Amino acid sequence: MKSSYACQTFLELVNIDCVSKEEEAVSKVIQQKLTELGISFQEDKAGKSIGGNAGNLYVYLPGTLPGSVFFSAHMDRVIGGKGIRPHVEQDRITSSGDTILAADDLSGVAGVLDGLRRIRESDLPHKGVEVLFTVAEEIGLLGSKHFDYSRIRSKEGYLFDGDGRLGTIVKSAPSQAVLEIEVFGKAAHAGCEPEKGINAIIGLSRILASIRDGRLDTESTANFSYIQGGKSSTNIVCDYAYCKGETRSKHHENMLDYIAYFHRHAKEAVGDLNVVVNTKDTLVCEAFDFDRDTAVVKNAIRVCGDMGIPCEVVDSGGCMDANIFNVHGMETVGMGTGMEEVHTFSEYQWLEDLHRIGEMIERITR
Ligand SMILES: [Zn+2]
Repeated sequence: MKSSYACQTFLELVNIDCVSKEEEAVSKVIQQKLTELGISFQEDKAGKSIGGNAGNLYVYLPGTLPGSVFFSAHMDRVIGGKGIRPHVEQDRITSSGDTILAADDLSGVAGVLDGLRRIRESDLPHKGVEVLFTVAEEIGLLGSKHFDYSRIRSKEGYLFDGDGRLGTIVKSAPSQAVLEIEVFGKAAHAGCEPEKGINAIIGLSRILASIRDGRLDTESTANFSYIQGGKSSTNIVCDYAYCKGETRSKHHENMLDYIAYFHRHAKEAVGDLNVVVNTKDTLVCEAFDFDRDTAVVKNAIRVCGDMGIPCEVVDSGGCMDANIFNVHGMETVGMGTGMEEVHTFSEYQWLEDLHRIGEMIERITR
C-alpha cells in the first residue's frame, strides 16, 4: 500500500522545495508524469501575469461518454514548506515536525494524477476529464483568478483541496475581502511644539477601539491583524499609521454592507482629530453555497456511498479556488483529501485516503 502510485507521487512532490510563485520545479514533475501517462497539457501565462515562475497546467482528456467533469488541485504551499522530510508511518504521513507537510495541496495533486492514470489504464467508458493544477492559491487564489475560462467545457467540478477525511464535501465557502486603513497626521517636535503635531497613532487607535470586529453575526467575521507606523524616536509626533485586516461572510451582500460600514466608521471615528484617513478594500473572492440536492453535491455523496466511505457535507470558513470556479459558471465543490492540521508543523496525511482519491475521481467520471 505504501508504494502506491499516489503515495510515491506525493512523496516525490513533497520533497521539492516550493512556495507560492515558485512552483516551476513541482510543475515540471507533474508535466513529466502527464507525459509518461501519454496525456497532453498546456501551461498558461498566469505565471507571467502574477510575477511567478510557473503558470497553471490545464489538461483535457476526451471522453467516451457524453459530457465532461472538471477536477482541480493547487501546486503551491504556504511558507514553511522547504526542506520537508516526510515520514511514512503505519496509517499516515507526517513531516519531521520542523516544517509543514504540504499535504495541502500535494495530496490533491497526487490524487488527481492517480485518477488520470486509472482512467487512462482502464477500458471502461468515462466522461471527458478536464484538470487544472493552479499556482499561487495560498496567496489570494492568484492562479485561478488568471486562468482563461473560455476553454472550459465542464459545468461540474471537484476541487481536491479540502482538509478532513476523504468523503468530506465542502458545499460552501465565504466571500472575503482585505481591508486597509492609512492615517496621515502631522510630524512635530514632541518636546518643543507638540501642539503643532497630529498623532496618527491616536487616530488609528480611535478607529480600531470602536470598530465592530470579531464575529459580526452567525455568518460573518472581521479581523484587524496588522499595524505599522510610528517613530522609534520618542521626540517626534507620529505622522503615519497603517492597519490591515479582513472580513468574510457566507453572504456576499452582508460582506458588502460591512465594507461600507468600515469605510464610514474609519472616517467618523477619528472625530475632531485633524488626521487624513484613507481606506481601501480588495475583494479576494465571492461566496458560494450549494443546497444538498444540487447535482454536484448529490454526485459526490453518491460516489462516497459507492466507495463505502462515510460522507460529511460541510461549510468552510476559508476561501478556495472553488470560489473562483463557481463565479465562472462551473458548479464546483471542495473535496476532503485526508489532509489534517494544514498550515502547521503538525500537518499529516491519511494514507488510506491518499490511496483512494484516484478511485473517487475515476468513479465520478463514470
Ligand atoms: Zn489548499
